[in-house]
Amino acid sequence: MSNLDWLDRDRAAVWHPCTQMKHHDTGALPLAPIARGQGAWLYDFDGRRYLDAISSWWVNLFGHANPRINAAVKDQMDRLEHVLLAGFTHAPVVELSERLAVLTRGELGHCFYASDGSSAVEIALKMSFHYWRNHGQPGKNRFLCLAGGYHGETLGTLGVGDVALYKDAYAPLLRQAATVPSPDARLAEPGETATHVAQRAAAVLEAQLAEHHDSIAAFIVEPLVQGAGGMVMHDPHYPRLARDLCDRYGVHLICDEIMVGFGRTGTFFAHEQAGIRPDFLCLSKGLTGGCLPLSVVMTTDEVFAAFYDDAMTRGFLHSHSYTGNPLACRAALATLDIFAEDEVLARNRRFAKRFTALLAPLAKHPRVRHFRQCGMIWAVDIDTRDPDFRLRFYREALRREVLLRPLGTTVYFMPPYILDDGEAVLLAERAVAALDATLP
Ligand code: PMP
Repeated sequence: MSNLDWLDRDRAAVWHPCTQMKHHDTGALPLAPIARGQGAWLYDFDGRRYLDAISSWWVNLFGHANPRINAAVKDQMDRLEHVLLAGFTHAPVVELSERLAVLTRGELGHCFYASDGSSAVEIALKMSFHYWRNHGQPGKNRFLCLAGGYHGETLGTLGVGDVALYKDAYAPLLRQAATVPSPDARLAEPGETATHVAQRAAAVLEAQLAEHHDSIAAFIVEPLVQGAGGMVMHDPHYPRLARDLCDRYGVHLICDEIMVGFGRTGTFFAHEQAGIRPDFLCLSKGLTGGCLPLSVVMTTDEVFAAFYDDAMTRGFLHSHSYTGNPLACRAALATLDIFAEDEVLARNRRFAKRFTALLAPLAKHPRVRHFRQCGMIWAVDIDTRDPDFRLRFYREALRREVLLRPLGTTVYFMPPYILDDGEAVLLAERAVAALDATLP
C-alpha cells in the first residue's frame, strides 16, 4: 500500500481532530499517512520522513517505538490487558500510584485515573465542587481561570478555558468561569520584569477572590506555560502568589500539568519551581511517554478524607470504562523508570542550552518577536498578518522533513527528550528555512 491508497481510504472514513476537513481536499492541510515511527522520526508509506518536533501533540517524551516502554507493555499484555478498577485492583495501578505520590513528596497521595487530559480536568473540577458540598458549602460552585488558558475540549473544560477558536461556537452550551489576566511575561513594560507582571496579575486575582470567594470552588492554572493559548510563559512567582491567595480565601488551586508535567519546564513538575503544592494536580500526555492514553488527578489526604464516609453519595462516583488500564499504567511505570535511570532532567538542561544557541538565527530573524524558552519548550511570535500563516508554515516545514504546527502566528518547538545534536541542528536550520519560505 502506498501513501495514496491510505489517503483515499482515510478521506472516505476518518474525521480528524482539530481540523477543517475541507483543508485536506484543497491541499491547505496535507494529510500524512504514517507507516511507522522510530526515535524522533515518523516515516510514511513512500519512504518520506518527518522529525516530530512537537512530540506528537506533546506526548512523546522518549521517541516513537521506545524499546523500554514497548517491552513493558508487551509483557503486561500477556498477563492482564484490562480489568475494571471498581471493586478490583492490579499491580501496575498500585505501583504507579505509589511512585507518583513519592514524586510529590507524598503530599498528593491519592490518584484518580482517566484516559485523557480533558477527563482529568473534569474530575478535578467535580472533586473540588464536591469537596465543598461535602463540607456544607454547596454555594462554592464556580471556577476561576486565566485569560488565554486551555484545559481541554469537553463542555466542562471549555468552560474553564479561554481560547476563542475552540470555545466560541459552543458558548450557549457552556457554564463560563470568570477569567483573570494572564501573567504573560510579554506584557512587561519597559523596565519591568516578568515578576512585576506576575504581581500585577496576582493583584487582580486577589480582588476577584476577595469579592467572590464564597462562590468559587477552585482556581485552575497551567503553571509556567499556557500551552494551546500560544506558549505563553510566566514567572514562577505567579503560582506562588496564587497559592497564597487561594489559601487565604479558601479556594482550591488546580494545577493542570497535562502539558507542562514530566520535565517539560525543566523540573519534573512545573509547580516545583514555585515551591508550592496544588490541591489537585492533573497529569496526562507524557505520563505514558506517548504510548497509551492515560490521565490522573492527584490530590491530598484532606480532599480524600472529605469523601470518606458511610453515605454513598458523599463518595466520588465518577468513572470511565478504562480507568487505570493496566497496559497504560505499565507504560507509565516504564516512563518513570527512564526518568530514574537516565538522568533525563540533567540531559535536558544540557540539550536546552545547546538548542537555544542553535535557535539564535531564528531569535534574531527580523520578523520574529518574543523569543522565549522554558525548559524543553521554545516559542516565537511571527510578525505577520497573513491569516494563512499557520498552514503555510506547516506545509513548508513538512516539505523540509520537519513537523511543526504553529498556534496561530506562534511557532513553537516541543521536541522529544532524545534528539541528538545532528537532529537538533537540522531542526533549527530547517525551521528558519521554512519561515523564510513562508513569509512574503
Ligand atoms: N490541559 C492542557 C494544558 C492541555 O494542553 C491539554 C491538551 N492539549 C488538555 C488539558 C486536554 O487533554 P486531552 O487532549 O488529552 O483531552
